[in-house]
Amino acid sequence: MRAVVVGAGIGGLVAARLLARRGLEVVVLEAHTYPGGLAGSFYHRGVFLDAGATLLSGFAPGGPMRLLEEALDLSFPVEPLPEGFPLMAVHLEEGTLLRPVGRRAERAAQEAFFGKGVLPFWDWQAERAEALWGLAPELPFPPETTKDLLRLLRLAPRLLPLLPDLLRKAKDLAPKDPRFLRFLDAQLLIAAQCGVGEAYALYTAAALDLPHRGAALPRGGMGAIARALAEGLEVRYKARALRLLTRGRRAYGVEVLYGGKRRGEREVVEGDLFVLNVPPEPLLGLPPRVPKDAWGAFVLHGLLPFPVDPPYYRQNARERPYAFLSLRPEGRKTAFSLSLHTPLGLWEGLSREEYGRLKACWTERALALGGALLPGLREAEWLLAGTPRTYARFAGRAWVGGYPQTHPFRFARLRVLENAYQVGERVFPGQSVPAVALGALRLFKSFL
Ligand SMILES: Cc1cc2nc3c(=O)[nH]c(=O)nc-3n(C[C@H](O)[C@H](O)[C@H](O)COP(=O)(O)OP(=O)(O)OC[C@H]3O[C@@H](n4cnc5c(N)ncnc54)[C@H](O)[C@@H]3O)c2cc1C
Repeated sequence: MRAVVVGAGIGGLVAARLLARRGLEVVVLEAHTYPGGLAGSFYHRGVFLDAGATLLSGFAPGGPMRLLEEALDLSFPVEPLPEGFPLMAVHLEEGTLLRPVGRRAERAAQEAFFGKGVLPFWDWQAERAEALWGLAPELPFPPETTKDLLRLLRLAPRLLPLLPDLLRKAKDLAPKDPRFLRFLDAQLLIAAQCGVGEAYALYTAAALDLPHRGAALPRGGMGAIARALAEGLEVRYKARALRLLTRGRRAYGVEVLYGGKRRGEREVVEGDLFVLNVPPEPLLGLPPRVPKDAWGAFVLHGLLPFPVDPPYYRQNARERPYAFLSLRPEGRKTAFSLSLHTPLGLWEGLSREEYGRLKACWTERALALGGALLPGLREAEWLLAGTPRTYARFAGRAWVGGYPQTHPFRFARLRVLENAYQVGERVFPGQSVPAVALGALRLFKSFL
């Protein structure tokens, strides 16, 4: 039996590895020249740069990345971060708040910064996060099969205590201190792709827990995870899927256009089972479904001629758009990526000159916002900017984040056709490297 996986993002690679372990012949088709998609790293001027994701978590016992290591019998090249490690600094009007690894350290930092009034919120968050992360690997949500419904019923005793919060928003539960709301707003924008007014409470609880779920530094950039997953798989790079070929409700092949040495060549790659790590609509000849509230990313990469101490992740929550700076030691130098949310509409329908001007304007804006997080940012030896246009070209879509996490039922179904499924950040449990890995694991529990 042959499986064809379209897209070598984390979701696609995890699915491919799991299928290969089941004994299937697996072919992965990847339009680009390296694996990982939004969690890949590309080589530029002798340095690995992270295309999107930089902050990795999920290595705590029972965490998604640990489960994956166990399921695939591999060990990812990461350096686990110890309790108390200063993971992230959030810069607010009133000063800088540290988010350390470990719940106790975080609680102390929160109390020192905001006062005792926020502690009941963190009690609620910790309780919900424990329950949700425990459930996430087995939760078939929303259910698609009878098997899913039966599993949901079995999980009912653990789900019932969560129900009162199901339709609540983060802001309903958060203390009304405007400083705290600003902190949540900025953190949720990177974790949920929406602000504190829109994010739903349960997702908020789970997302805020990332520093305490086994945060780790990937050696060689985030792409090291994808490279480890791709090892031993047949991944055809520069192989762009154009169309999913169907007979009735079943797919039988993918029409591919090659680049590189096979430039211009077309082929139909046939298979029995198809896993799509890309939005399926274009492959089915349907118009793309871009969420109305989706964001684009503007990312500035660079190399600093000096070393930088932790925290390696810093967010400027003083001003919108909240700039997020990720730093990675490169010998005595530091590679950085600085990302900003940007409205997609801003980048559409521009002439070449207008696009160049907008890119220059956002580069300047990013440097100003990022400079507040790290003085000396302007000393970068070189800069490289990525815009929603870059993401559209290199990742196959301009928008990032799948769906903003505004509602607990806002997910795409896994099954697209009788023998075709989707994985990636559109399916539950949402965006981020551990989340899409869990999404692929879920596919196996529900269908395969
Ligand atoms: C700026 C930014 C910062 C982020 N920061 C973090 C972070 O710090 N931590 C974290 O955990 N997550 C972060 N994320 C989110 C995380 O990167 C994504 O949720 C995750 O990587 C998405 O994985 P995916 O499986 O959906 O696939 P994608 O990454 O979308 O990969 C899809 C793959 O399919 C390929 N492809 C597309 N079209 C075709 C086609 N027609 N034929 C063949 N191949 C095709 C693409 O080239 C790509 O390799 C960030 C994202 C962005 C954009």
